[in-house]
Amino acid sequence: MMKRYDAIVIGTGQSGPSIGSELASRGRKVAVAEGYRFGGSCVNYGCRPTKTLIASAHAVHMARRGADFGFTTGDITVDWARVRERVVGIIEDTSREIETWLRGADGVDVYPVFASFEGREGDQYRVRMGDEVIEAPLVFLNTGTSARAPRIPGIESVEWLDSEKALRLESVPGHLIILGGSYIGLEMGQAFRRLGSEVSIVETSECLISREDDDIKHAVHAVFEREGIHVFTDSTPLRAEPAPHGGVTLHVKSKDGAEHAITGTHWLNAIGRVPNSDRLNLPAVGIETDGRGFVVVNEFLETTAPGVYALGDVNGKGAFTHTSYQDFEIVRDNLLHGRQRKWTDRVQTYALFTDPPLGRVGMSENEARKSGKNVLMATKPMSSIGRAIEQAETDGLIKLLVDADTEKFLGACVLGFHGDEVVQAISYFMATGASYRVMMETLPIHPTIAEFLPSILGELKPLE
Ligand SMILES: Cc1cc2nc3c(=O)[nH]c(=O)nc-3n(C[C@H](O)[C@H](O)[C@H](O)COP(=O)(O)OP(=O)(O)OC[C@H]3O[C@@H](n4cnc5c(N)ncnc54)[C@H](O)[C@@H]3O)c2cc1C
Repeated sequence: MMKRYDAIVIGTGQSGPSIGSELASRGRKVAVAEGYRFGGSCVNYGCRPTKTLIASAHAVHMARRGADFGFTTGDITVDWARVRERVVGIIEDTSREIETWLRGADGVDVYPVFASFEGREGDQYRVRMGDEVIEAPLVFLNTGTSARAPRIPGIESVEWLDSEKALRLESVPGHLIILGGSYIGLEMGQAFRRLGSEVSIVETSECLISREDDDIKHAVHAVFEREGIHVFTDSTPLRAEPAPHGGVTLHVKSKDGAEHAITGTHWLNAIGRVPNSDRLNLPAVGIETDGRGFVVVNEFLETTAPGVYALGDVNGKGAFTHTSYQDFEIVRDNLLHGRQRKWTDRVQTYALFTDPPLGRVGMSENEARKSGKNVLMATKPMSSIGRAIEQAETDGLIKLLVDADTEKFLGACVLGFHGDEVVQAISYFMATGASYRVMMETLPIHPTIAEFLPSILGELKPLE
């Protein structure tokens, strides 16, 4: 007889396990499917391992900067085996903890398979779990994304890395070519450069992190060039081929039409992620996807099939651990606590964990200019902030954007020392909907970066 559950969770990213265990803790019977590694991308090849790698790279970088702080160390050598062990150790521990937690949870059955829909019978969704078919009236899709494979002639003749493979390399690459100058490419590129690789970043846009404001992307670009990272912007990859002495050669064409070849020992592709929706057999139950394969959801994260929800990156409404986890909170509150929470109410926020890090919330200056609002803006370079000077971390700037009519924040950008943390002061403040003038009267801690937020607000001016 077919096994019947109250709910089926497909994928164990940042929202699936939580919604599954929440329902099970209330006495519901839940099936959870995971076809690969428990914990998904954040745990296994995303946030946590990359930030572990970045921490090692940062320590090496700071050791090399000893003279700036008054000490000498002699030659610094990187023990990649130990760096890798740290990275892989954190991956394995966390993934195992999630698997153990789910397998031990009362009311949860774990299926270590890639699941797919078989069809629908009344209000029951039939889902294939390997050799078995089970059914439930509620299904939560948390299947995430995979690295996008570039469509470049010759790609099949060379080996290329995604973030997962790059984190498990046997040695530090001699010369790492990175295709894609956005978040993943920049974080990995700077980390491997600091760990000893020559790094070349190839980006088709006119600048790195092209979605950011000009002053921000130029400041990041300058840091990368100073660190000896070769940056090829406005460069379109033409073809890839094995290099004569091992590795790969990538032929690129620059904006002026000139063609040149970049030869590296390794090639990391960081050109974006594609949703894992193709193997779910979504048409069998009438679940629609958009042109890029993201599962279509309404503001409550309901798909086009009643009782089926899509959470996390697969719905295309966020691409972060925090957005995926918030999707869980929204669905939990709506299903179990009678709320009407919507993903559309969230203020987008994220960080780029380069050094210095970039913290962003709400609108950029570009977006504010296009919004038609009456915008006030103030900026301050990190080089004029006491704590940044004390730390010898003066790259970057703070930018605050306010709506002159409502006095509410529109957004903020903090590129600089602890920018990923500092920006959250604005983020939490925005959630209150209070006037920026309230922040001007708060008592900040000295000496910090965030202590300057109130005084920067005193310099707000209309956009020119
Ligand atoms: C290199 C890198 C760095 C990143 N850094 C950050 C960062 O610093 N901060 C941040 O917020 N975000 C970061 N992200 C993004 C972040 O990892 C994801 O946004 C986050 O993990 C949310 O993912 P998710 O919950 O949608 O699903 P995922 O974590 O992607 O998990 C989906 C799971 O579903 C499984 N699955 C797929 N299909 C099926 C199926 N049919 N049946 C069963 N199982 C299936 C997959 O195997 C996977 O385990 C990074 C991503 C990458 C790649």
